[in-house]
Amino acid sequence: MATAEMLFPDDQSRGDLLFARRRRSHSRPSPKPRPESSFTPPQPPDRGRFRFTRGQIIAGGTVIAGSVIAVFLQPWQLLTVQPEQTEPETLESLVAQAKKMEDEYKGQDLSDKVTREKYMDVLAGIFAFHNHDFLSRQQFKQAVNFEDNLIRFVQQRIDSGGKLGTPTPQQLENERETTASTDNRKKKITINVSADGFKQVNLSRVKNIPTGWNPLKELRLVLLHEFNHLVIESSDPVIFSIIDPNDIQRDKRIEGFRLMGIDQRGNFAAVFDDLHEAVIELLARNISQSDFGSYFSNRDTSITREEITTLISRLETVLQVAGITHQELSKLHKASNLREFLLILANNAGITPETPIENRIRFGSIIAGAIERNDQRILQNYINQVIRARQS
Ligand SMILES: [Zn+2]
Repeated sequence: MATAEMLFPDDQSRGDLLFARRRRSHSRPSPKPRPESSFTPPQPPDRGRFRFTRGQIIAGGTVIAGSVIAVFLQPWQLLTVQPEQTEPETLESLVAQAKKMEDEYKGQDLSDKVTREKYMDVLAGIFAFHNHDFLSRQQFKQAVNFEDNLIRFVQQRIDSGGKLGTPTPQQLENERETTASTDNRKKKITINVSADGFKQVNLSRVKNIPTGWNPLKELRLVLLHEFNHLVIESSDPVIFSIIDPNDIQRDKRIEGFRLMGIDQRGNFAAVFDDLHEAVIELLARNISQSDFGSYFSNRDTSITREEITTLISRLETVLQVAGITHQELSKLHKASNLREFLLILANNAGITPETPIENRIRFGSIIAGAIERNDQRILQNYINQVIRARQS
């Protein structure tokens, strides 16, 4: 029978797992305490869209109730029902619009302001369809800003990190390939229009350029990725006590699957940052693949600089073994329910609720860390342990 002890690695790897490091990510949220947000809380989808309007009842002449209502209407009211006959937008119609825009796009970059705004709006609609229990199309759309100027983009990233100052030449160079940045607390996504990744002329730097690539297609996955960064922030004292036992960090929170805090030197510290990015990228690719039949992405991770694709494939292996669907993953991630994710990982390996919660969370953390750091020994042990747990 499997026990919690079987998979706990030695102290060395546990230390590796729990270390907090400076973040180096393309989305760097603000550490500043910002209790109130101007952002409206999650709303149900546009219910009005699906409600029958009076016009529709009247138009459907076979509906007896409609005819009855019509009798009581004044003639001028009958004349005003016509504009309500427009078809509601479906996922298919939005995808068709986006594809058409992509196919017709002749730009060499994203300087076409009208097209990029319109395309972003359509993508917000597509994303909202897949996340109808979360934010509305309007809320996703309102979060996005395009920044044409690299210095201003970098300046804003420095400011959101709580350190005001003029970008150094090195910082500018570092951010030239950063396509976007999301501040989840402000609910603000900034697209770096000046990024190399959006410019045809700089594409020689990018590997594996698919045929038919253009800047708008690049923007597709960038938007789908950044929309996934807008999550409900959460807090978990048990996880915090494991990750930061001496309670050194300030402003600790869980954002998606990553743990954020500010260390003693005032720098961002994050745990599971790459895992978090891999989940986001996986969810973005899923939508792009299912709706558009393709995706383009050349992100790498911050720990090992490996292609994020290889990290995603390890993640997928573990998801499959643990029986976690992408839908479930998306739900847990949006709610920043890292605890449940870690507990499912433990439970599937036979570390059931009789084991103290701290131990189960610690166990899950070790597996999550092994996915992130590509620790094949721990991952293989985990898979074996899940198989044994199923058989017993
Ligand atoms: Zn990201």
